[in-house]
Amino acid sequence: MSYLAQCLCQSVGLRVKHLTPEISACHCRTCRQWGGGPLLSLHCGDDVILSGEADITRYTSSAWAERGFCRHCGTHLFYFYNQRAAYFIPAALFGDDLPFTLTEQIFIDQKPDYYGFSQCTATMTADEAIAAFTAQDKSDAR
Ligand SMILES: [Zn+2]
Ligand SMILES: [Zn+2]
Repeated sequence: MSYLAQCLCQSVGLRVKHLTPEISACHCRTCRQWGGGPLLSLHCGDDVILSGEADITRYTSSAWAERGFCRHCGTHLFYFYNQRAAYFIPAALFGDDLPFTLTEQIFIDQKPDYYGFSQCTATMTADEAIAAFTAQDKSDAR
């Protein structure tokens, strides 16, 4: 069993073996400027097989991450955290049949007031999220 995420024009596919259908919303300025709204993604780790790689354009959005999009249809394909080789793939690319739940909102202090989710989720500020990711990096290094 595996799960296939696809772009609008289906040139690019991302196949994931293990999927926890828990959505994390990122409200950071970069995600919102990139996508026009918060990034609703699934943590897919490094267990991702790309197809149509020649059609993926990667944009280096910071020293620690790149963002991929389809060069034909513009679909946002992933946020790739290079310190841990971890892909975060937008939930919508998997279709609507999976039992997704919104469980976490990060960079909550950068969320503008003009929208909000009604779900009750865990939240992290920018400082808390960065501290959490850095702590994971350190524990991996051991
Ligand atoms: Zn496409
Ligand atoms: Zn973000």
